[in-house]
Amino acid sequence: MTTIAFIGLGNMGGGMAANQAKAQRSVRAFDLSAAALKRADEAGCTPAASVAEAVKDADIVITMLPAGPHVRQVYTEQVAPSARPGALLIDCSTIDVETARAVAAAMQEKGFRFADAPVSGGVAAADAGTLAFMVGCEAEDFADIEEALKPMSRITIRAGAFGAGQAAKICNNMALGIQMLATCEAFALAEKLGLDAGAFFEIASKSSSQCWSLTAYCPWPGVGPQTASDRGYEGGFATAMMLKDLKLAQDAAAKSGAATPMGAQAEALYALFDRMGFGNKDFSAVQQWLRGRLDVL
Ligand code: NAD
Repeated sequence: MTTIAFIGLGNMGGGMAANQAKAQRSVRAFDLSAAALKRADEAGCTPAASVAEAVKDADIVITMLPAGPHVRQVYTEQVAPSARPGALLIDCSTIDVETARAVAAAMQEKGFRFADAPVSGGVAAADAGTLAFMVGCEAEDFADIEEALKPMSRITIRAGAFGAGQAAKICNNMALGIQMLATCEAFALAEKLGLDAGAFFEIASKSSSQCWSLTAYCPWPGVGPQTASDRGYEGGFATAMMLKDLKLAQDAAAKSGAATPMGAQAEALYALFDRMGFGNKDFSAVQQWLRGRLDVL
């Protein structure tokens, strides 16, 4: 039986680890949060007392951590000293390209195989095992990586060499942040014009403004599929996480010389929303700000 160490059992990692356990793999799970560890235990994983205990003897190590500094620290200080030589290490967090490349080089030097494999799809897809993975890795490792990710994925695509998965993810999420704001503005205007939200959803989702933010992650409560907006904007993709990704995009744009004025505007708006105290709310909560109803948050 394949043994998987799963580190980081938050909104995303919790469901992902559960799907590995459902696929009859032996999952040793670790998170700093006792509550997250308890949920993983209930989902069929074996809780570990530390990263070192989780990765010891694991064939595959999967991480789903908040940001670059966590990934660098966990791999260099905790995974590398304790994991089995030759183990396949897969980081699914969204982080900057430079950190991904630096961690990949450090792990390769120590005899591990590595992949940056960030995901698209959100918490619902993490729970359902239908995430899209974008992978940066050595070409010869891709088949094993695809197999390792299978219980959690709808599709896995190799983007290129180390860091390419993160590059694809940063571009994707910059477009996502812009599209979410555009969708929220359209609903806010529709309300002012006296349109019924359900009728507008029905029309827009079948017209040229159709996008994932509208049809799969509708920011207006009560219309479209069940999303974070129907749960008081709790438990989805936090505003602080979206802001992190938009900052990564702006940083990458500045370094590469790409023109991303809408991405810059999205970063400014999410930075303000975060500073107003809504960093823990789902990123679709900007809907209530843009319609002037912060009181409902
Ligand atoms: P989260 O904050 O819910 O989960 C992160 C988990 O990592 C937490 O449970 C935390 O306790 C744990 N953690 C932090 N440091 C640790 C350490 N040193 N050792 C062990 N555990 C540690 O975040 P999330 O929403 O699950 O997002 C995780 C990653 O996935 C982020 O990089 C995010 O950008 C990305 N992502 C999130 C979504 C989404 O919809 N939430 C979608 C795609 C990608």
